Amino acid sequence: MLPRTLHSGQPSQWQKILAEAISDPLELLTWLGLPPDILPPSAIARRQFSLRVPRGYVARMRKGDPGDPLLRQIFPHHDEEYDAPGFSPDPVGDLAAMPLPGVLHKYRGRALLVATGACAIHCRYCFRRHFPYGDANPAAGQWDAALNYLACDSSITEVILSGGDPLTLTDQRLAPLAQRLSAIPHLKRLRIHSRLPVVLPERVDDGLLGWLGKTRLKPVMVIHTNHANEIDDQVRHALDKLTEAGVTLFNQSVLLRGVNDTPAALADLSEILFDSGVTPYYLHLLDKVRGAAHFDTGASRAETLLTELRNHLPGYLVPRLVREEAGASSKLPL
Ligand SMILES: *Cc1c(COP(=O)(O)O)cnc(C)c1O
Ligand code: SF4
Repeated sequence: MLPRTLHSGQPSQWQKILAEAISDPLELLTWLGLPPDILPPSAIARRQFSLRVPRGYVARMRKGDPGDPLLRQIFPHHDEEYDAPGFSPDPVGDLAAMPLPGVLHKYRGRALLVATGACAIHCRYCFRRHFPYGDANPAAGQWDAALNYLACDSSITEVILSGGDPLTLTDQRLAPLAQRLSAIPHLKRLRIHSRLPVVLPERVDDGLLGWLGKTRLKPVMVIHTNHANEIDDQVRHALDKLTEAGVTLFNQSVLLRGVNDTPAALADLSEILFDSGVTPYYLHLLDKVRGAAHFDTGASRAETLLTELRNHLPGYLVPRLVREEAGASSKLPL
């Protein structure tokens, strides 16, 4: 039997919660008991990239703390208005690696579908904050062109659903896509890059587990968490359900000044991830996207932090520190 969400036209619980996400900075500040003169929102930053944050994520922020590491990730700040040298709209060369709209084929064996432009949360440091999603949508034309591309290149063994956040698409759309992908014989793995299990754990429902746990392809999910406070009991429960459904879980983080740029913050994150069944995978050096310069730690600080982390943790809890360079054939270790 199909999970209920696959054949009913009713919005699922998670869609209702997503629709109630906060988009008004003043409402957010009121929730947190923060006067706007302490943390004034930037209208310019917000016009470039709107505020969007689910209420459950806000509930994990510390009230009255303008420096809260979760708040800092999503708040449209005046620092974004500074046009720092070397920070550009497409820092990782996505647009040059797109053989057809929304398909990124940069690395051997893996092709990435920009499945949607929508996200449940807007992260201020996002390297795709200026991505032209409207012109690069593989879902246009029922995925036919993208699927044809994958079917014609037998060197591709793994397909990555990314975005945006692919899990903002409904299961009514994702389940048939997974079905069609699994019919391509040379594909072995289906990897999903998503922040939803963390920022909207209600997304991990029977509808999702139904198709993801049953596909012929080996399912891998790379969640995206930057700070231990992002993981509460409800998130842990969602991650447990994914593991039980046979999904291999990894985490990637971005190294962000004022969020996780201390050995203690990174160690706490690795510990709580492992407790939740997630292996730390990548720690990305910030991509130099316009508007995010205030998050930059610089490469040498990053290397120092990693050395300290190695002195604190078992090797398997130390993420690989990498940076992405346009035109390179893999993410580059530091
Ligand atoms: C990051 C990325 C991948 C995956 O790289 P891994 O090193 O396998 O995690 C694949 N394609 C694109 C375009 C990417 O940006
Ligand atoms: S969820 Fe991912 S794609 Fe969306 S804004 Fe955050 S970092 Fe960017």
